[in-house]
Amino acid sequence: LIRFDGVTKRFGDNVVLDHLDFTVDPCKHVTLIGPSGSGKTTILRLLMTLIKPDEGTIRVAGDYLTHEEKDGKLVPAGEKHVREVRKRIGMVFQQFNLFPNMKVLRNITEAPVHVLGMDKDEAEARARELLEMVGLSDKADAYPTRLSGGQQQRVAIARALAMRPQVLLLDEVTSALDPELVAGVLDLLRDIARSTDITMVAVTHEMNFARDISDKVLMFDHGRVIESGPPEKIFTDPDNPRTQEFLSAVL
Ligand code: ATP
Repeated sequence: LIRFDGVTKRFGDNVVLDHLDFTVDPCKHVTLIGPSGSGKTTILRLLMTLIKPDEGTIRVAGDYLTHEEKDGKLVPAGEKHVREVRKRIGMVFQQFNLFPNMKVLRNITEAPVHVLGMDKDEAEARARELLEMVGLSDKADAYPTRLSGGQQQRVAIARALAMRPQVLLLDEVTSALDPELVAGVLDLLRDIARSTDITMVAVTHEMNFARDISDKVLMFDHGRVIESGPPEKIFTDPDNPRTQEFLSAVL
């Protein structure tokens, strides 16, 4: 469903991703792990089209995100094309990024109504269903600042799902939470992983979460995937000494 081919991203002299190739199959849950600065978040930002690669191509559900085909040739993607392919992707951020001036319900309906052109009543009905799923039915009329971090993150998850994305990107979604709120958010994401056919790509330092939800773990170092495999293999018997070293430091 996601395919990176030869993707290079530099910031000045710093080569953050170095001719990176990887794929994520439909409905799979992939976790990106690795030391700080190894390029994990950069991958999510590329998928969100917040930044562009210097080289290489990225495809989502068969279409290029970075390029479009014109007269049988690949040319850099125009804005309209990017917007269309981008709709397939939802993201949940470390810092929730809810709209502070909108009530919870409106936070969830805003993009379906204004980006997808969904009917307002339909968007609200769907938002209420999602709020029920994330355990916040009673907070529809609250402003985000009145909610705990864990509750705000649940709203952010509901907001991402309201767009019915094929892919959900999760960027360190528990690292801004108080420790006692982490488990609830991780349980919710586990339920979503199990009960929907959404494809997930998560960057996380929560190795238990990675172990629990992932079909595949990709270990990054210096902008390359140095090892990948099912969590049972990566967490118990990694082949690469760098993976062993990283895991013994974080586990
Ligand atoms: P962490 O686990 O700490 O979040 P990461 O693996 O997600 O790390 P990235 O955030 O992808 O790492 O960053 C990779 C490298 O790219 C780092 O060296 C970072 O300093 C650099 N970098 C990221 N964004 C920018 C930017 N906008 N301008 C310059 N350098 C950047």
